[in-house]
Amino acid sequence: MEKLILDGKAVSKDIRSNLAVRVEELQSKGVTPCLATILVGENPSSETYVKMKGNACKKLGIQSERIHLSSETTTEELVDTINKLNHDDAVHGILLQHPVPEQIDERKAFDTIAIEKDVDGVTSTGYGQTALGFGEYPSCTPAAIMTILDYYDISAEGKNAVVVGRSPILGKPVSALLLNENATVTTCHSRTKDLPDILKRADIVVAAIGKPSFIQGEWIKDGAVVLDAGYNKGNIGDVDYDSCYEKASAITPVPGGVGPVTISMLLKHTVDAAAKKL
Ligand code: NAP
Repeated sequence: MEKLILDGKAVSKDIRSNLAVRVEELQSKGVTPCLATILVGENPSSETYVKMKGNACKKLGIQSERIHLSSETTTEELVDTINKLNHDDAVHGILLQHPVPEQIDERKAFDTIAIEKDVDGVTSTGYGQTALGFGEYPSCTPAAIMTILDYYDISAEGKNAVVVGRSPILGKPVSALLLNENATVTTCHSRTKDLPDILKRADIVVAAIGKPSFIQGEWIKDGAVVLDAGYNKGNIGDVDYDSCYEKASAITPVPGGVGPVTISMLLKHTVDAAAKKL
């Protein structure tokens, strides 16, 4: 069977070259897209993610305003910071890096982000709009998965899609997006029974679990499309790549699959939000 490696770097390059042109156009009209990132506390992985996002902005000429709050920050202080950014006309997108320290009410903080600046798709309103099919800025990893399918002309219509994971930023919204594209969607989680049997019927598999090499090739139907959103220590996905590669007709590698496209979605949403200021 012919194999298609779904190359996130190629998809990303395409998106970013297009964005570079749009950023230049916006700048020529006096608008520089700006993404504000908020990091609370000292979490080395989060610091790396925020830095990566900031660097990706810089490369495209998108301004990135970085706010780093102490690990003792209260919900009220974080809400105040977000509100200031909501009212700052120079800021087009706001990203609050997850997770925040446990004394903070993360949902309250996310839901303080103004919907028009919710470029990371974390607010309850944004999620609701995505589920109803008119969300402008869906959560970035789900948006990346749909963009990869679209880039490779893989239609979800009428397919059995199985999403493993139901987090608010990944499993749930990607299930909604696949449903909106007329897939028949099954969303699995830690209490799902007989996961291998459910996966055996899947034409499209989305892995969003957070457990390295969890999905086994023997659970995968011949010819399935496998999208691995997982990113675990040591650059390992949630899919056991070698055994799933044998069964799949198309598969995303880790690294170089969903990850780079996720950052491109954040950049695209920021540019889209800035373009509204013209
Ligand atoms: P999360 O919030 O920890 O959610 C994990 C989900 O997996 C939960 O819904 C959980 O079920 C489910 N799960 C756990 N064990 C399971 C099992 N044995 N069988 C079936 N389902 C199981 O994780 P997340 O934030 O969605 O992230 C998932 C993965 O994506 C991680 O590897 C993360 O690093 C990666 N990620 C990648 C990107 C990217 O840019 N590529 C962005 C974000 C996240 P319950 O709900 O029942 O607990």
